[in-house]
Amino acid sequence: MKNTGIVDATENIYFAPLLPWQEALWSQLTTRVQSQQPLPHALLAAGMQGMGKRAFVWRLIAWLLCRERATHPAGACAKCESCQWLRSGTHPSLQVLPIVRMPSSTESTDNTEKSNSKTKDKKASQSNSALKIKIDDIRALQPFIYQGGQGIRICVLDQAEQMTIAAANALLKTLEEPQSQVHLFLISDTPAQLLPTIKSRVQQLPLQTIDTTVAVDYVTHALGHTINREAVSTAAIEQLIQLANGAPLAAIAMAQAPWYSKRSLWLTTWQALRSGKRSSVAASDYWQNQLSIVEFMQLSEMMLLDIRRVRLGLQELQKDVNLSNVLESYQPTDSGLEAFASSLQQTKIALQQNVQEKFAYDKLMQELAYL
Ligand SMILES: [Zn+2]
Repeated sequence: MKNTGIVDATENIYFAPLLPWQEALWSQLTTRVQSQQPLPHALLAAGMQGMGKRAFVWRLIAWLLCRERATHPAGACAKCESCQWLRSGTHPSLQVLPIVRMPSSTESTDNTEKSNSKTKDKKASQSNSALKIKIDDIRALQPFIYQGGQGIRICVLDQAEQMTIAAANALLKTLEEPQSQVHLFLISDTPAQLLPTIKSRVQQLPLQTIDTTVAVDYVTHALGHTINREAVSTAAIEQLIQLANGAPLAAIAMAQAPWYSKRSLWLTTWQALRSGKRSSVAASDYWQNQLSIVEFMQLSEMMLLDIRRVRLGLQELQKDVNLSNVLESYQPTDSGLEAFASSLQQTKIALQQNVQEKFAYDKLMQELAYL
């Protein structure tokens, strides 16, 4: 039974519908290939999470490898030998780094996973160190890249910013000697961490501009016109997209996160703590039944972001909570904001060191009372 889940995940990645804001780029690239103009040797899909860059890359790779692509311009056929190989994760013409990672949606599961137990933390740190792309990994790719033969061969470097300097330098040589029929795809959520020498030798896919109307339509539809089973307005969807920095998939994840509907409640608690109407212990007990501490911290970060904006004289992004009214009667000082932000950081570290969630919650509520 477990296997079916993995197969489904893989299938989604290669054969999922095209995201609407990627249609123009898809048609541009596929038309180019169909008219016998090869794609640039090395392509970079960069930008923040939630724009759908991985979805685009895996879909494009499936199509490039598909035997039936001439008659399937809209996406890989999902049936030919190549598509079957992708399904089973054994495609001989595809190499993916870092090696340990399945090309699946691990990034989303990583974020939602509440790792309290020691084993889970250990697992998390192991996968973090395994994420590094080392020089030996790049060297191991060389025979594949230089083997010649017919047919397209594709290398993917996911989390390309995780390359060590030595690995990046080894890759540089490969980038300087393009091999016909070999394509390199680099994917990075934090392209600023890539070496400039690498960036200058790869062509960036223009995946970051998303038309607002297209994004609003997509998010509205994906959420079934509701957030937490309540009907939503276009303004609510626009706000969501803005809070997610324009990334539609991130906006959807945010709307579905349990903390999103508790933003007003956070303000109420903050006011009650500050005025002394509620003790931090009582608030902590209450919130422990509402959200995990990780979720409460995400919520607090969002609220902090808007409080800072108002302090700077900007409009708040969240129009659906009573933030401006609350801040009219009281505004935290800059040092208060700093102190609370740093206690959020400290809580993150404490949780990594397996501090109990209850203690961390209690402490955070004490700090919130001083904001
Ligand atoms: Zn196919």
